[in-house]
Amino acid sequence: MTTACYAVFGQPIAHSLSPRIHAAFGAQFGMAIDYRAIEAGRGELSAALDAFAHSGGRGANATLPLKEDAALLCASLSERAQRCGSVNTLIRDGDRWQGDSTDGIGLLRDLARQAFDPHEKRVLMLGAGGAARAAVFALAGAGARELVIANRTLARAQSLADAVGARAGAWEGLAPESPFDLVVNATAAGHADIPLDLPRTLITPSTVCYDLSYGSAARSFLDWARAGGAVRAGDGLGMLVEQAAESFSLWHGRHPDTGPVHALLRAGS
Ligand code: NAP
Repeated sequence: MTTACYAVFGQPIAHSLSPRIHAAFGAQFGMAIDYRAIEAGRGELSAALDAFAHSGGRGANATLPLKEDAALLCASLSERAQRCGSVNTLIRDGDRWQGDSTDGIGLLRDLARQAFDPHEKRVLMLGAGGAARAAVFALAGAGARELVIANRTLARAQSLADAVGARAGAWEGLAPESPFDLVVNATAAGHADIPLDLPRTLITPSTVCYDLSYGSAARSFLDWARAGGAVRAGDGLGMLVEQAAESFSLWHGRHPDTGPVHALLRAGS
């Protein structure tokens, strides 16, 4: 009999914090979790998942650049995964994988932790990739009054805006008629150390800015937000912990206490 194991698949993956997060969650319930980081690039996920399932894989996370591939490989998808067309959580069910997307709820939980309620708020979403899709559907579901989506490739912003009932804005013409309550950076520009050329006028003293990425990838956007006087500028480390807690709960039927794990990661220990 094989022992149940869990993993995150992506590329690059060596520096993933997920094994640490899931070990810390498991410890809360006296469970020793076998959770690995497995390198897999585009086109490699299917074979990697088969081998993983064969060796006892019962649950997996998919991260960059595999979330769309993961959605195509699953035999069934949750409603929220279908809506955003991406899967970050796979659950083994017999000889098939079920797919879910916990990114959107992860963002909402982290915003709630910071006492930000999107209800009736004006939100600007920068980016229209997989994470932006999950975030936009979650924010719309949480009652955001207005959503504007701006993306380097305008057609992608327009397609997402049409799907969620939002408005697409051109990157160049980003100057609000009235201020945004929340500006979310869901682009991957920070990973390539490319600063976004954003006007300061997007921010007022009551604007909250949130970058889905963290570490050095979030630095440039957060510097821009602080220099513009945003009331708060935060990175996506909290969202990472919260989306992981949702995955943990789907696999193990128990929701961990995320507070101590946030503190652990922030302390860098
Ligand atoms: P993705 O599907 O590859 O989308 C990338 C997005 O970034 C697209 O909108 C793309 O625009 C835009 N982009 C890339 N380079 C750019 C540049 N130089 N200037 C302007 N826009 C640029 O990636 P994703 O999965 O959505 O991830 C996006 C970010 O969210 C990443 O930083 C990722 O680490 C982060 N994330 C964090 C969490 C968390 O738990 N904290 C979860 C998921 C994702 P085009 O459409 O024009 O290519």
